[in-house]
Amino acid sequence: MAMVHGNEYAGGWALENLRRGAPVLSSGRLTLILANLEAFDRFDAANPVMSRHVDEDLNRLWHNTRLNSREHSSELERARKIQPYIARADLLLDLHSTLWPSEPLFIAPPRQRSTELACALAGGKELPQMVLTDLGHHGGSRLIEHAHFMSPGGTGRSCLLEAGPHWEPSTVTVMESAIARLLAEAETIHLRGQATEESRQTEMAVVTDNIIARNADFNFVRPWEGGAMIPKAGTPLAHDGHDLICTPYDECLLIMPNLRPRRGQLAVRLARRTAALFRS
Ligand SMILES: [Zn+2]
Repeated sequence: MAMVHGNEYAGGWALENLRRGAPVLSSGRLTLILANLEAFDRFDAANPVMSRHVDEDLNRLWHNTRLNSREHSSELERARKIQPYIARADLLLDLHSTLWPSEPLFIAPPRQRSTELACALAGGKELPQMVLTDLGHHGGSRLIEHAHFMSPGGTGRSCLLEAGPHWEPSTVTVMESAIARLLAEAETIHLRGQATEESRQTEMAVVTDNIIARNADFNFVRPWEGGAMIPKAGTPLAHDGHDLICTPYDECLLIMPNLRPRRGQLAVRLARRTAALFRS
């Protein structure tokens, strides 16, 4: 899956390269979906953020209460068309890129079967080491949280790759490495929940805090990069109105800071390292 956000065309590029390469599968079926082409049709290099969506964020609609509602939007119609393909997917890799500088990382919903998928893809050459889990996202369910991937006892595994900055060739390279690994290991991951390859290092972290900008003058004390690790608790991160926001614990990871959040928007997520997995 790529271009859930219409302006993130590095993912579209990676899928088009894959399609042209006509991969031969040893088993199963490969489905490539460019999710929000209607938004991409409005792409304007002078204002690239505007083509992220048409009516609303396509990556916040994947709860059944939205999908099965009577509401209408360009993105809801599209999500309802895509949904049957999601419902029969064993493994989903959702390709994204970021506006602000950020170390690439995998994000998995809080289900063991999906963290297994992300860990099996992480840690190789040109691939992020970090696997982040969280308890959902500000503002609605992401595609990786569709009921097919969240239901207890289900088998669908999902993860999201934030592969680097929008529109950078290196971002396409990271995506293509993840795709190659997924194709090589899909059968093993599906059947055993891990990859065949020996000893790769992955790091796991869990989101502890969502920092929302409460004021229009929200301001980071410096232009933090996503993936930065702040060693000490109590280190100032940002000013928000009269509040000073500090790290709540030692070795705090900053996840994809939004360096110019509007009031009410997510400014940054904080995450704590959990355990390092050494797979053999
Ligand atoms: Zn995105």
